[in-house]
Amino acid sequence: MKKNDDKKAMDRREFIRTGVRYGCVSLLAAGGLYLTSSRKYGKDSQHKVWQLDPEKCIKCGKCATTCVLTPSAVKCVHVYAACGYCNLCGGYFQPGTKKLTTGGENQLCPTAAIKRTYIEDPYYEYSIDENLCIGCAKCVNGCSDFGNSSLVLQVRHDRCLNCNECNIAKSCPAQAFTRVPSSRPELI
Ligand code: SF4
Ligand code: SF4
Ligand code: SF4
Repeated sequence: MKKNDDKKAMDRREFIRTGVRYGCVSLLAAGGLYLTSSRKYGKDSQHKVWQLDPEKCIKCGKCATTCVLTPSAVKCVHVYAACGYCNLCGGYFQPGTKKLTTGGENQLCPTAAIKRTYIEDPYYEYSIDENLCIGCAKCVNGCSDFGNSSLVLQVRHDRCLNCNECNIAKSCPAQAFTRVPSSRPELI
């Protein structure tokens, strides 16, 4: 019995270490936004780029349809440090799904951009394939309704054309788009 308890404690410690590692990965993702932006625009803090504030976003879906680019320059970013690693993930599964399996019919994402990986009972990791993401905000909505809001939308500066007038900003019903310094291009 003691052996089992020790093993569980070790598994838990490994999970927490892994979580910290993933937390670092999300910081690296934010760093990636910074590096891409600074490589493109230099370190001039006066230079502004478009970004959206996840606190204001009402997940209306227009980010996917009104960007001048197809697919949109807006993508889902996973803030791992805030994720609960839930078995029943509101950002991954269709609401009311009976089977918690990776079958396409159970997934909320229309492009299967979210990967679900088993860690240890009852924890799963969710990662976004940005190449497949169209920025539709469905997962962001699901995660904010039933989870920790760890899935958020962000303008990806490796794609964004930094249009003088951002087409999404013009049609965003929540006025969530704003200009931020290219030296600090993320709002997560
Ligand atoms: S258009 Fe605005 S409210 Fe709609 S998903 Fe984009 S940022 Fe959110
Ligand atoms: S549900 Fe939409 S925003 Fe979320 S990962 Fe899939 S395509 Fe991207
Ligand atoms: S600035 Fe242009 S490319 Fe960038 S998000 Fe807005 S519409 Fe899309």
